[in-house]
Amino acid sequence: MFRRDASSDSEEAGDRPTRSPSGFDLTPPAPDERERLEADLSPEEKRVLLQHGTEAPFCGGLLNNKQPGVYCCRECGLPLFRAATKFESGTGWPSFTAPIDETHVRAVTDRSYGMVRTETRCARCDSHQGHVFPDGPAPTRLRYCINSVSLSFVADGQPLPDPLGRGDSLSSELG
Ligand SMILES: [Zn+2]
Repeated sequence: MFRRDASSDSEEAGDRPTRSPSGFDLTPPAPDERERLEADLSPEEKRVLLQHGTEAPFCGGLLNNKQPGVYCCRECGLPLFRAATKFESGTGWPSFTAPIDETHVRAVTDRSYGMVRTETRCARCDSHQGHVFPDGPAPTRLRYCINSVSLSFVADGQPLPDPLGRGDSLSSELG
């Protein structure tokens, strides 16, 4: 007999893989879990994460953070970027060359404001994170331009946030 998460059996349908290569459960939050996560967000976090807003440049709390660690989704806690891939882009927003795991960041075409851009969203809770542009430094030449308020920073050695109680953790080699 298989042991399953008590909360959501609606996600059992289909054969979509829900476990990322780095070992995280990417099953979207159930409606009641989502309600709980959203209740924990500040008005500014809601505006960016849920309504695709953008924080003002050079104001974000994580822009100049250079500590070693991991940047996680502010809403659901999924690890999205490693500090080692953060770089100073001069744009005023935290910038990264690559996600911690390709499957943790979802790219969506964004045609708002008369531009064609690639929006990035958390692959688990679908919250808005920022955009990715093809003008970054080596090795990827990509620039993930992310809002500080979309992220929670976890310093090396600290436990990852796990608001969904999934019990996932990064293997030590990734930290
Ligand atoms: Zn998320």
